[in-house]
Amino acid sequence: MLTNFLNDFFNIKAAIIALITVGLITVMTAMTYYLERRALKRSRHFGTLVHLLEAVAVVGSVILLRQTFWVLNSGDIVSWGYAIAQLTVLLFSLYLMRNLAVEVVNVIMPIAFYAQGMYMGHGGQYVAVFISMTLLLTGAIIYISRHRTDVMDTEWKYLLLQLVYGGTWSFIIWSVHPFNLIYTINVLVVFVFYMWIIRFFVKRLTNLIDRLDSLDQAINYDELTGVRNRANFDSTTVGVFGVYQKHPSIPITMVMFDIDHFKTFNDQYGHLTGDAVLKHVAQHFKQELFKQTARGQLFRYGGEEFVIIFRGVSATDAQRIVTGIRDTLQQNPVEANGQALAVNVSFGISELRLADDYFDAWFKRVDHYLYQSKKAGRNRCTVEGVTVALS
Ligand code: GH3
Ligand code: MG
Ligand code: MG
Repeated sequence: MLTNFLNDFFNIKAAIIALITVGLITVMTAMTYYLERRALKRSRHFGTLVHLLEAVAVVGSVILLRQTFWVLNSGDIVSWGYAIAQLTVLLFSLYLMRNLAVEVVNVIMPIAFYAQGMYMGHGGQYVAVFISMTLLLTGAIIYISRHRTDVMDTEWKYLLLQLVYGGTWSFIIWSVHPFNLIYTINVLVVFVFYMWIIRFFVKRLTNLIDRLDSLDQAINYDELTGVRNRANFDSTTVGVFGVYQKHPSIPITMVMFDIDHFKTFNDQYGHLTGDAVLKHVAQHFKQELFKQTARGQLFRYGGEEFVIIFRGVSATDAQRIVTGIRDTLQQNPVEANGQALAVNVSFGISELRLADDYFDAWFKRVDHYLYQSKKAGRNRCTVEGVTVALS
């Protein structure tokens, strides 16, 4: 039996399938992280689309494995290496892709497998085994989907659920292709081994991604206000300038704003209150901007000065958006030391022009418009040189 076991599981075909499985799992992991991150910034519909895409990726992987095996085994797909590779991809997707569509795929798979067996003239005689094992498997799938983190972190639960998953699947396969049941032990051993290696790597990969995330946060975001920082502004504007030169018909607008008499908050109420005002203004603009458009990015340029870069938005539209946000800021003053502090801001707004040979030409113009708003008495907005008072 040992010789059979070794022959079946340790040969060149098994090695190829193992490599393909690892490759598929790596691609699935990268895809899931990329899509889910994008989904966080987009609408709910986009989130649903991402979940469907993930389910399609799982089905695609299973089909790809099947085709590979078909070629390797000259048309014979009744093989354990193949079954284990498929189970690995399916169970892995359940841990990685946390969504209903993937769970449904997992539940449907045994039914599809049985139906295909019937269609090809196998099975039919062990319906009771098939039904009871499918129910048990479904129970395990539901349990995993509800307690993922707990299962991933608890060694014995992970192992137990793996045995239930692999075991029920073995009987489902048996109900279509009756084989020597002692073989199931070999299958389970190899399956447990596969999944243990995968869990080892997934845990490390997740840690690495978390660390990269916090590094990205530290480099690109301002610690106090939580909005993008000056370094991020510098790298973003290089890209924006390049895009404009290729597509000058799409307007790009810069809005600069600065809190009026901010120094008095520090002087009168202390630095901590000053910090609270900064945080409040930044978060208010960030949230209100997010509600209105996906085309604006907010940066803290320095001190109490902020910049918004709008892509595909004219200066007039940008003015409408930011003065609207400023109006809602008036209705939501900062609460500090039991009193409401009114905060005013002044704006400078200008579109990028073809005549702007350097980024600085544009930046200096916007800065000058802001200065113009301040000089005219603050609480004002200057758009392309024209200053208006804000009520
Ligand atoms: P103006 O209306 O002309 O903009 O006057 P202002 O008082 O807002 O501007 P000014 O440039 O005179 O003062 C800005 C102050 O902002 C000076 C600086 O101490 C303070 N500041 C800069 N960064 C921070 C910060 O992170 N926290 C706090 N609390 N204060 C800060
Ligand atoms: Mg100021
Ligand atoms: Mg300032």
